[in-house]
Amino acid sequence: MTSAQPYDRVFNFSAGPCTLPVEVLEEARDGLMNWNGTGASMMELSHRSKPFEQMLEQTIADLRELMGIPSNYKVLFLGGGASLQFSMLAMNLRPQGSADYVVTGTWGSKAVEAARLYGGQVEVLYDAKASNYNHAPVLADLAPTAGAKYLHYTSNETVHGVDFFEEPSRTDVNYVCDMSSNILSRPVDVSKYAMIYAGAQKNMGPAGVTVVIIRDDLLESVPAGLPPMLDYKLQAQNNSLYNTPPCWSIYMCGLVYKHYLKMGGLAGAEKRNDAKANLIYDAIDSTGFYKGHAEVKNRSKMNITFTLPSDELTKEFLKGAIEAKMLELNGHRSVGGCRASIYNAFPIEGCQVLSDYMREFAAKNG
Ligand code: PMP
Repeated sequence: MTSAQPYDRVFNFSAGPCTLPVEVLEEARDGLMNWNGTGASMMELSHRSKPFEQMLEQTIADLRELMGIPSNYKVLFLGGGASLQFSMLAMNLRPQGSADYVVTGTWGSKAVEAARLYGGQVEVLYDAKASNYNHAPVLADLAPTAGAKYLHYTSNETVHGVDFFEEPSRTDVNYVCDMSSNILSRPVDVSKYAMIYAGAQKNMGPAGVTVVIIRDDLLESVPAGLPPMLDYKLQAQNNSLYNTPPCWSIYMCGLVYKHYLKMGGLAGAEKRNDAKANLIYDAIDSTGFYKGHAEVKNRSKMNITFTLPSDELTKEFLKGAIEAKMLELNGHRSVGGCRASIYNAFPIEGCQVLSDYMREFAAKNG
């Protein structure tokens, strides 16, 4: 397989911001001076202008189509990153009473910390910390606390590389899911969730915008008196235009949605992601040199975490990787070792090159 990439681009294994589809970047470049005959770019057009409003509507429609979002859900594009949602969802959905949390990694535990700051109670139903977050429980086995307003979990933990690979099955629970690092990587049944949210900067576009998909009935119980920018109901009433939204980031997400609609939707993405992840997991499993961090049943297809036998070998491995144009393979400090983030737009050629490199390195040093 050839590793020559368009524009002499590197294989960028960053956990986010990360690789975007080349076709999308080209289209953005082409619209940078004069978008669709408007004589200006989407970075420059007023968010109150017709072209912007049309673009926003089309972007929402395309995401609805891509994910099969039912009509009783609103789609919001908000600022503040996915981290702001940790606080916002607690303020909006749990003004009093309690909420359940399932913690399978760094991000889930940050969501708990934020929720604890806002009134009501937080029940941690499951915390995988003792195993350094190497697995996820079976969601269907976790009984909610009586009266809990919602159950929050992180479908893919980016730092640890742990994915549930399970959709909610209980109909008596409002599942709230942080899908920041695996949204659009495979089909999901949105109707099983009360709310889904995701920062854009992995599978959707550049940093700066967070998508919130929220069921209408939850908006009815949003308490009065929240700061306006942090009020889901107000944001929904204003179609995310209460203030100036992250216009350019929304536009880029729109280009990405169109791109994946053309590429066979989320079923197409899943197929490509399976093939890509298999190339790297095969190198881990067949050499016996590397150790995968996550248990096999939960190992992520977006963030592949693994360690080498020693710190010296890890350093040498990373040095050689950079020389071969493979960047950002170092693991997060809480797991150590390496992490290969291979989101939707990451090319399969890069997975093949890494897989080959891993095998060669293992043969030389094993
Ligand atoms: N949740 C998950 C699963 C993430 O991976 C991240 C960022 N890597 C966040 C939340 C926080 O996102 P942001 O930096 O946009 O606040």
